Amino acid sequence: MALAYTGETRQAHEESDVTTQATSAGTTPRRLGHYIGGQRRESTETIERYAPGNGKLAATVSAGDAADVDAAVGVARRAFDDGDWPRSTGFDRAAVLNRVADLIDANADLLARLDAEEGGKPLRLAMGDIGGAAMLTRYAAGLAVQMHGTTYTNHGPDFTGLVIREPAGVAGLITPWNFPALILCQKLPFALAAGCTVVVKPSELTSSSTLEIARLYAEAGLPAGALNVVTGDGRAGQALAEHAGVDVLSFTGSTATGRKILDASKSNLKKLSLELGGKAANIVFADADLDDAAEGVIFGVFFNNGECCVSAARLLVEDTIADEFLDRLGTAARRLKVGQPLDPSTDVGAMIHGAHLGKVLGHIHAGREQGARVVTGGRRAEGPGLDDGFYVEPTILDGVTPDMTAFTEEIFGPVLSVSRFSGPAEAVELANRVEYGLANSVWSKDIDKVLPVAKQLRSGTVWVNTTIDGPPTMPFGGYKASGFGREMGQAGFEEFTELKSVTIRTGRRSGSFPLGAARVVSG
Ligand code: NAD
Repeated sequence: MALAYTGETRQAHEESDVTTQATSAGTTPRRLGHYIGGQRRESTETIERYAPGNGKLAATVSAGDAADVDAAVGVARRAFDDGDWPRSTGFDRAAVLNRVADLIDANADLLARLDAEEGGKPLRLAMGDIGGAAMLTRYAAGLAVQMHGTTYTNHGPDFTGLVIREPAGVAGLITPWNFPALILCQKLPFALAAGCTVVVKPSELTSSSTLEIARLYAEAGLPAGALNVVTGDGRAGQALAEHAGVDVLSFTGSTATGRKILDASKSNLKKLSLELGGKAANIVFADADLDDAAEGVIFGVFFNNGECCVSAARLLVEDTIADEFLDRLGTAARRLKVGQPLDPSTDVGAMIHGAHLGKVLGHIHAGREQGARVVTGGRRAEGPGLDDGFYVEPTILDGVTPDMTAFTEEIFGPVLSVSRFSGPAEAVELANRVEYGLANSVWSKDIDKVLPVAKQLRSGTVWVNTTIDGPPTMPFGGYKASGFGREMGQAGFEEFTELKSVTIRTGRRSGSFPLGAARVVSG
């Protein structure tokens, strides 16, 4: 069926949501409610979100409960079972997604400001996230057109086998705070491209850009009810994970929460994908281009304040070049500007909240106590404009050994832990010696060395002579405690689909069943 694009859905949502206050993002506190069936809904209980960069109130967020989740899942269920979206053509779905991508580009400045303000990330990087969000949405539009199954006609003239790829149903999406718009778009357009209907539960710390993107979907012509948002904290997430009306759940967040979701999803054995924590390494061999490698290591750990699941928080460096390489890194780290997230010249912004600041500083303290040497940084960053926010100096710890918590635990801040190795075997052994398996990077000019190392690394992603890189065609996900399932690529799309085998016999069936004696002949 064809979806009519009238733009009519815009007004109902626009009047009542983040939109009316959105242009004043960064100055005016926003009041955020749920978005269910195209309507705003509020909870009496609210969560106040203070901007981590300056301590000012950024948003008051409705704290959704099981009843809100139940309402949203009910709407999404009806939209899936009886609505237009799952029955629309791939071309129609692609048209909506392409319009959304254009709208994301057109609203990039606003979306980036919302994420920078609420998440503490530097505005410059937030702009990159929004460009990525638009690219992901365009890529998913192409997948909507390409969605297809397989036909088998090679089992004799009377047999036709259809393997049909169908939308999985109602999709629950739970997202974290560190890339609010980007991670949403690693899931949402893929689910919609497949024909699913959706309930999103964004992080309570960074909900604005999700609601804003929901508005853009309405403006682009997505039927009301195909996309719903319930704001709130882990209680709303838990209710979504438990809900028997959800067919597929895609979660990104910590490994600890991932384990709870695994339990909650048992209610109806829903299809599950878990994108969890990481402790990636940059592995630098002596024969690497050390200029490139140094830039990559600095970017890999300090990108997004180090609050990134694929942050290369460990540097494994070949012992013969370690001292010289570390000197370069120390100089580069000291040049980074720690500053207000909304300042376009900021390299490293604010930690997500005060408790997290305390956790990061605690990890640095523990590293010192356990014998690591602070090469640079190591303290709370202070100075003009920083005193009301949660800032950490870009920090490098040298002499980190596998028994130290700085080697094993996800710090999720601007802290690099450096360990030395001698030869590829030790590099691989050290890289794999953590519970996580999300990503690693290898730096060397010797392909005979790089490729075997890449194959032995137990992580879902390996970058070679680059880091945190690549287009949405490349599937992304974890090994080990970094979770299971994939996002992006064809594999990410297929997470939101089911396969149905339809076996068709034509011609004479009589005599083809093994219990022939029980045959009933009519007439
Ligand atoms: P988190 O696990 O605390 O929260 C993630 C989301 O889950 C939030 O929306 C939260 O409200 C919700 N939630 C909390 N408790 C819940 C429960 N019991 N049931 C259902 N939902 C619940 O994670 P975070 O602090 O927001 O994000 C940081 C973590 O996310 C880090 O560990 C990081 O490595 C990980 N992460 C992973 C990826 C990846 O792709 N693998 C990407 C980004 C972040």
